[in-house]
Amino acid sequence: MGVPMTALRAGAATDVGRVRSNNQDHLLMADPLFAVADGMGGHAGGEVASLTAVEALLAGFDANRTADGLADAVRNANEAVWKRARERTELRGMGTTMTALALVRENGEEALAIVNVGDSRAYLLRDGDLDQLTDDHSVPKELERAGRLSAEEAAVHPQHNVLTRALGIEPEVEVDCFRVIPYRGDRILLASDGLFNEVSDKDIASVLRRMDDPDEAARELVAMAKEHGGNDNITVVVVDVVDDDDRAGRASAALADEPTTQWAPGAATATALRAAQGDG
Ligand code: MN
Repeated sequence: MGVPMTALRAGAATDVGRVRSNNQDHLLMADPLFAVADGMGGHAGGEVASLTAVEALLAGFDANRTADGLADAVRNANEAVWKRARERTELRGMGTTMTALALVRENGEEALAIVNVGDSRAYLLRDGDLDQLTDDHSVPKELERAGRLSAEEAAVHPQHNVLTRALGIEPEVEVDCFRVIPYRGDRILLASDGLFNEVSDKDIASVLRRMDDPDEAARELVAMAKEHGGNDNITVVVVDVVDDDDRAGRASAALADEPTTQWAPGAATATALRAAQGDG
């Protein structure tokens, strides 16, 4: 077992927006673990759900710092929110999204593990290109992936904010899990829908390319979402890979003529591994 070589730096910002009276989003900055949770539910429910989820995620991840451990921690968070929702009538029906990123070490290799439930998102900016890593668990996006709606139809679907998966709704939940090999210069964005419903991917990418400091980039993205309407709470976490584990020669490979194929844009590369327990 070697010493972890990959180093991260991160920045974040969150804002209630221009319309909502309270901020039901929560974020977690606990290097090497980062998360965004977007709570839903009347009264205080949404805030309680997202806070309960990030606290349970942190506690669960500490027990097993692998990709599987991270997915387990999300399932623990689901159970924590579900139990809490049944304790008090005013919390009944609350739920939350969860998108999290952790640097993990498995079999001597470091990886970025990304987990998702709901319609918050993780993006990867690599070599100037921005790609969405996660799938939204919403009614129109599920229909689009099934080939029953075009992207244009999905974009204007009346149920765009109806989730097909969230934490706290059922005693068990299916968790999407992806692994990305980290390269120096990679930038990962975690965001609640209050960002990308207001700001286009093109404009998000422009800010992420332009602003080196992750805190400044996060604040700028939140400010843009507010300028463009701020109809929802906005939460942004920006995580930079400032050094990578190049002992296997990956850094020099990345500079060679042939592009590395360990991660290329698209679903085929972010190794989709559906967490085993979530399938049952
Ligand atoms: Mn939201």
